Amino acid sequence: MADESPASANFSFPGAKVYLDYDIHDPPPIPSSKWTRFVCISDSHATRFAVPDGDVLLHSGDLTYYSTFGDFEVTAEWLRELPHPTKIVIGGNHDFALHAQDGWYDRNYRRFHDEDKQDVEAISNLFRGSAAERAGIVYLENERYDFHVRDGGKKWTVYGSPWTPAFGNWAFNYDRGREAEDLISTFPQTDILLTHGPPFHILDKVLTGRHVGCAALSARLPSLRPRLHVFGHIHEDHGAIVREWTAGPDIVRGGDNGVENPSEHTVFVNAANFPLGPRARTSDGQQVPVGGAPFQPVIVDLLD
Ligand SMILES: [Zn+2]
Repeated sequence: MADESPASANFSFPGAKVYLDYDIHDPPPIPSSKWTRFVCISDSHATRFAVPDGDVLLHSGDLTYYSTFGDFEVTAEWLRELPHPTKIVIGGNHDFALHAQDGWYDRNYRRFHDEDKQDVEAISNLFRGSAAERAGIVYLENERYDFHVRDGGKKWTVYGSPWTPAFGNWAFNYDRGREAEDLISTFPQTDILLTHGPPFHILDKVLTGRHVGCAALSARLPSLRPRLHVFGHIHEDHGAIVREWTAGPDIVRGGDNGVENPSEHTVFVNAANFPLGPRARTSDGQQVPVGGAPFQPVIVDLLD
């Protein structure tokens, strides 16, 4: 991979426009009806904030802070009220009660909720039930989803996974190495990839300067090459970059490996809206609210 743009500035290249810095009440117009507007958010942690309209809302997880039913309800109600016809959502490491697979929450809830075990079925229903469906909410847990924004328009494909490298045995945690590789090897090629955490060395820098993203995920990207990869988790490295895939032995087109439609560029968005780090305070020392500039939602317009 080559060529990196600054992570906090708007940028565009043929077929894509990315806005990090814009007026939330007067966002830039969509270029034409041949474009699709994706609005990227993450790590909202049960907080509501202003989100610009668009065709598709993408939420990369950490829907809650404490993973209580009340936290999930705040988020689900907010998502239902947002105008986007399609809202694709994954969980994150904070969303313990969504991690029902293999009885994980049943075995671990006391560490987070003492005796106040949350109703996992009611929580799941907030994102998979009929009210969610009517509001266009699509919850993905290692699942692919295909959709059209316009009749007769492009079919968009998206894959979503809440799993991140281990961090104190929170929800959806894998061990770096073999366990990560086994899971990530099952990710299919899609136009859009949603993960909770970043790949290694891409918008994954914590305050100490260490890169903490997933190496197995970055190793898999040359095969997946989505047009857009949205994540969050590392709040302090909110931003966006584009990487151009250079010719080389890692470039594979079509054929046996299942790569259907590899793109020349991938736009990477760390959409974390929960402010952290030096940018979490304004120049006059005020705390930036959740979803406030420069941690506002990221707009990505893609040409069909
Ligand atoms: Zn978070």
